[in-house]
Amino acid sequence: MENHFAALVRRLQEIRHVQKAGAVLAWDQETHMPAAGAVARAEQMTTLARLAHESFTSDETGDLLHKAEEAAGDLEYGSDEASLLRVTRKDWERARKVPVALVMESTRHAALAHEVWVKAREDNDFSSFAGCLQTTLDLANQEAEYLGYDEHPYDALIDIYEPGMKTAQVRAIFAELKTGLVPLVQAIAAHTDRVDDAVLHQPFDEAAQEAFGTMVVDRFGYDFSRGRLDRTVHPFAIGISVNDVRITTRFDPDFLSPALFGTMHEAGHGMYEQGVAPELDGTPLAGGASLGMHESQSRMWENVVGRSRPFWEHFYPQLQQRFPSQLGTVALETFYGAINRVQPSCIRVEADEVTYNLHIMLRFELELALLEGRLRVADAPAAWNEAMQSSLGITPPTDSEGILQDVHWSGGMLGYFPTYTLGNILSVALYEAAVAAHPTIPAELARGEFGTLRRWMTEAVYRHGRKFEPHELVQAATGAPLHSQPYLAYLTNKFTDLYRL
Ligand code: ZN
Repeated sequence: MENHFAALVRRLQEIRHVQKAGAVLAWDQETHMPAAGAVARAEQMTTLARLAHESFTSDETGDLLHKAEEAAGDLEYGSDEASLLRVTRKDWERARKVPVALVMESTRHAALAHEVWVKAREDNDFSSFAGCLQTTLDLANQEAEYLGYDEHPYDALIDIYEPGMKTAQVRAIFAELKTGLVPLVQAIAAHTDRVDDAVLHQPFDEAAQEAFGTMVVDRFGYDFSRGRLDRTVHPFAIGISVNDVRITTRFDPDFLSPALFGTMHEAGHGMYEQGVAPELDGTPLAGGASLGMHESQSRMWENVVGRSRPFWEHFYPQLQQRFPSQLGTVALETFYGAINRVQPSCIRVEADEVTYNLHIMLRFELELALLEGRLRVADAPAAWNEAMQSSLGITPPTDSEGILQDVHWSGGMLGYFPTYTLGNILSVALYEAAVAAHPTIPAELARGEFGTLRRWMTEAVYRHGRKFEPHELVQAATGAPLHSQPYLAYLTNKFTDLYRL
């Protein structure tokens, strides 16, 4: 067994070397590359992606996998070997199910559609993008047919981002959440005057912002000896290896929130990947279990920890010291309210903790309706605006601030959106499980200590990498399947208190 298994691992590692070389190029492209390098860089990255894809989907890899499986016999479920074989089998079959011609057509279409989308959003002209969206939907439906599914084509698409998750489950989880969220949003909307965020909109020196954010995520436990923080336009985290997980952020000199909370968010992603067990490094098991699980960690560190009262009881005096003229006379409660202000708005990425999920649900419902053909592409902008009005009480003034705002539909990423809200729900489920195991955690946050929380997450989630599907990790960590009640209770408690509802 050793020989066949070792041969498989060696091949998978080589494929991963090619992929991670591509990741370094991608990181460089977003952080340091001169703009003029874009064309050559795109070609370099395409070549590396193609080489990795060809090598992985080859008959040789299939043969090595088959031999390793035969030799392995009965392995204990959850062992590194068993998980590696199971995950590699699933990845390999999925990669082989979709014909190369369709993969190439989708890649070509995504590149073209992205250009069209950028222009359509600039010009506020949905009709010029409508044809591209229709093609995206057609290609996604074809892909789903090739991938296969039991109940709904969308199941096949979600599974790419959230292994094991089904459309029906998302529907049920979202329906429960929405029932609780809409009245909360309406109650807050009647009292928006109770919280103001003007204190965040002042000039804040960028170097001081960076020093504070770096200090905070270092205290969280993001390991700068195995990572680094750089500037970029669209912040992201990227893993090269367990010992090299980089994060990025962006600074607004007149608004404190983007860099501060963006850095915490990306550090959450980063700590997840830094926490993967070293023995999984370089294999397909290194990395996060799913996008939702990944997002649960970015959201937990950003929101559940970083926007909590205990956290700021400790850190606010230090922030005031860095910005005495801006915050010196601003009370902690005023600051805590400002960073948690709820304001229904058109743009998803600027949304607060409460309204954010309504943006996601709207996209999920429209994606389903479009894929099923219940909604015509030409009618989608009106459907978008109606859904915004009924759930958030506002109508986007333009399609650029409505249906054209997100990159996902131009990139063919259908099935992606639900993972954001699943991540939010998970963030609270996992945090509460950690607190149930260690009731001292909130008091530790108020002392600026995060070790207990981070170690619990590492044990329950991080170290396992992709060894288990998200629902298995959730069941083991929380003792229950994922459901939205704890998250809804968290939001209701936090914002009923803040808005004195
Ligand atoms: Zn994220």
